[in-house]
Amino acid sequence: MGAAIFFWSNALDQGFTRDDHCGLPEAFRQADLPALAAREGTPLYVYAAPAIRQRVRALREALSGLDAGIRYAVKANGNGAVLRLLAEEGAGADIVSGGELERALRAGIAAADIVFSGVGKSDAEIALALDVGIGRFNIESRAELDAIQRIAAARGVTAVASVRINPDVDAMTHAKISTGKAENKFGVSIAEARAWFDAKAQWPDVRLDGLHMHIGSQLLSLDPVREALARMAAFWKELAAAGHAIASIDVGGGLGVRYREGEQAPDAREYADAIRQALAGFGGRILVEPGRWLVAEAGIVLTRVLLEKHGQARRFLVLDAAMNDLLRPSLYDAWHDIVPLGAAAARESATYDVVGPVCETGDTFATARELPRCEAGDLVAILGAGAYGASMGSTYNSRPLPAEVLVDGDRYAVVRRRQSLDEMLSGEQPASDWRRT
Ligand SMILES: *Cc1c(COP(=O)(O)O)cnc(C)c1O
Repeated sequence: MGAAIFFWSNALDQGFTRDDHCGLPEAFRQADLPALAAREGTPLYVYAAPAIRQRVRALREALSGLDAGIRYAVKANGNGAVLRLLAEEGAGADIVSGGELERALRAGIAAADIVFSGVGKSDAEIALALDVGIGRFNIESRAELDAIQRIAAARGVTAVASVRINPDVDAMTHAKISTGKAENKFGVSIAEARAWFDAKAQWPDVRLDGLHMHIGSQLLSLDPVREALARMAAFWKELAAAGHAIASIDVGGGLGVRYREGEQAPDAREYADAIRQALAGFGGRILVEPGRWLVAEAGIVLTRVLLEKHGQARRFLVLDAAMNDLLRPSLYDAWHDIVPLGAAAARESATYDVVGPVCETGDTFATARELPRCEAGDLVAILGAGAYGASMGSTYNSRPLPAEVLVDGDRYAVVRRRQSLDEMLSGEQPASDWRRT
């Protein structure tokens, strides 16, 4: 095969360069993946530390000159080692649960650098966040604003908060990850937010001085972002003119990545320029909440071919990874490039439905995919698995959670050991301790 090299438009992203020889992002090439799979077993999540560092640095550099902070969306990949790596590069966290708050704090992220998003925060989660001194709440409803007021007053503290605006724009992404349309459950209308600011004396223990938005995920065009930012900017100016000082504008996350060879994703500079233009003249702090963009392409799933099956109508490649390990293809019909490693890479091609062993027809990673012919035991990499991969994993079909490793050059560390059967079953007990309800 030739050595044609596909470069990212942004030179800072060279850790993600792929060539057509092995199809693997460069950051994984120094690692001996077959040895890693032999030692740690499959399915195995592998994250490349240099690729994550490169992304966060590229974003920081793109935002330079702005008073801007990165609040990494923990739900994309909450592994403690990944969080620690991002924290070392100066990222804070965007969390959506008490569990994610705990993860972020344990990774050494300062509470002040954490924002709390999400449409349904429990009283216990709000209290926990106030007790640790969280930086900011992104409030999504009047009921939540009332709850935060009540809980902050009881504790004698002031909660700092932004209103999550639902700007009613179409993010032009998959319906299940679109969040900024009027019919979505997220955020409130500008009219409702205006009413809150006008009545903010009703919530004396909430410092309501910020705006927030997050219109959706895997955005491949920046046009919806620009449109939403324009609405946010007009609203910030209107509020400022009415005497409501705005200290923070959080533009959310959503920046898309390249899941498929040849796909074009927006780059950090274009994104930062869109923010710079829309928020020109804003004197407060700007926050960005990327998740996927920082980690998706820095992760792969290593999996082995269990068997090849010639069905009545189609040819199947059955892997030892399944939808419980990587849900995105089942949930979103998402495309992930699949790359056979080792000897298979050189074979002639065949057309496969690539599936897992789980008892669901939806347990399909790819349909009618042209791949080098594979045999039982071959090692295969599923690319673009660093975000919404392990974090969405389950033990469905009683399959223990896979191990996760971080590679850095030719070194690796296990950052989550493979779940044992005992661990998977822990917590369950026979119905012997009966009590009255
Ligand atoms: C999920 C989420 C993000 C991150 O989205 P990505 O598409 O992974 O960048 C950011 N902000 C909020 C409020 C979210 O819910």
